[in-house]
Amino acid sequence: MNEKIDFTCPHHGRAALASVCGHLVQNQGAPLGFIENNDDPEDKQGWCYACELVYLQEEDKTERFRAFTQHSILCSHCYEQVKAHHQFDPPEANTDGTTNDA
Ligand SMILES: [Zn+2]
Ligand SMILES: [Zn+2]
Repeated sequence: MNEKIDFTCPHHGRAALASVCGHLVQNQGAPLGFIENNDDPEDKQGWCYACELVYLQEEDKTERFRAFTQHSILCSHCYEQVKAHHQFDPPEANTDGTTNDA
C-alpha cells in the first residue's frame, strides 16, 4: 500500500482521498443528510443520517456498521460535491419564535 493519501479521480485527477457511505454516492436524488466525521483533514469521511443512526447504536465502526455503510472511496473534490448535494441547509436562527424540535 502507498502510504500517501492520494487518489486518482476519473473526474478530478490526482487528489486527496476521502470517503463517504455508499448511500451518498448511489443516491443522487433527495438529500440524505450529511454527517461529517472529519477529525483528520487529510482523510475526510462522511456518511448519511441513516448511517449515523447505526453508528450511534453500535457506538463504534463495527462489522454491522461497515456492512451497512458500504463505505466508498472518492476524491476530496467529489466529497465536497456529495456533501453539498446531501447536506441539509443548516438550521437558521428562529426569528419568529417557532421551534422545530419534533
Ligand atoms: Zn449512509
Ligand atoms: Zn473527484
